[in-house]
Amino acid sequence: MEIKITKTTSPKIMPPADKLGFGSVFTDHMFIMDYSDEKGWHDARIVPYGPLSFDPAASVLHYGTEVFEGLKAYRRPDGKVQLFRPWDNVERLNNSCARLGLPKLDPEDALAAIKKMVEVDESWVPSSDGASLYIRPFLFSTDPNLSLHGVHKAMYVIICSPSQAYFSTGLKPVPIMVETEDVRAVRGGTGEAKCGGNYAAANRAGDRANEKGYSQVLWLDGVERRYVEEGGGMNVMFRIGDKIVTPMLTGSILPGVTRRSAIALCKSWGMDVEERLLPIDELIQAAADGSLKEAWCVGTAAVVGPIGLLEYKGVKYEINNNEIGEVTQRIYDELTGIQWGRKEDTFGWTCVIE
Ligand SMILES: *Cc1c(COP(=O)(O)O)cnc(C)c1O
Repeated sequence: MEIKITKTTSPKIMPPADKLGFGSVFTDHMFIMDYSDEKGWHDARIVPYGPLSFDPAASVLHYGTEVFEGLKAYRRPDGKVQLFRPWDNVERLNNSCARLGLPKLDPEDALAAIKKMVEVDESWVPSSDGASLYIRPFLFSTDPNLSLHGVHKAMYVIICSPSQAYFSTGLKPVPIMVETEDVRAVRGGTGEAKCGGNYAAANRAGDRANEKGYSQVLWLDGVERRYVEEGGGMNVMFRIGDKIVTPMLTGSILPGVTRRSAIALCKSWGMDVEERLLPIDELIQAAADGSLKEAWCVGTAAVVGPIGLLEYKGVKYEINNNEIGEVTQRIYDELTGIQWGRKEDTFGWTCVIE
């Protein structure tokens, strides 16, 4: 794949590290590639960051045909920049495309585009503690047609956002609320695809939780509202007694790269990890009798987010005295160590941008 590069003539200046926030500042360039049935994927280009142009009838605006990814580029102590398991993101992007009937990408081209974008905007990869360049590849249909006729035109775009550590106050436990009314996804639906529509379906419950002071919701399964699924945009893990328990991938849960990595780490430390159905009643019982030692979320944006309090049906359960637990802290230290190149990567998870 040949990528045509047009550099900006008016480069921006990156704000100071403590003013970056998360996902609100963007680099100088973006990657775009077009798809049509006749030409396949074509016209790969990196151009100055700016508005996209497509028809108001573009089907993504009416029928929600959009999928996305989220990964980061990290500045290592030696100044080099590296990615973390980017192959997994590319594979998941194609799985999401398949689910929504969007055209798939050549995995090598999709990865080459991510790498080239980071290379072109390399100076935007921050070096301050916990900061990184968040990379957002996304793909959507642009067919200018309101009839339901499948996808014949699409765009693959990559934008990048230098971001501060997700939790600016450090690894402080957050309170979350178990959602008992709305559901995010059902088996056979789009829960395991990373698509914008899943987030639209989650908005109302998220707003309700925020209004009550909770940082996010914990979703239950869409059929019986009986089994724990995941957080708003993160997977969840628990330490119950001596075991690490995380909901199994039933088809309605997003298969997170951070989840997969945290499971691998725990197993490498000799811990007992169970991927299984986790009834909310069991979790609440464990929270009530104290056998729930730790609870935490895992996802690329925050890496690890300790859960200090669970609310279920109006009752509040504090976890580990609202303090970060030892396994949560250990996973955080090891993962961030590998991601930022401070610790040896014995798993082969990282990939340096040359
Ligand atoms: C992206 C995402 C996650 C976390 O996946 P990572 O690959 O670890 O970043 C979890 N749940 C949902 C709903 C997501 O969209």
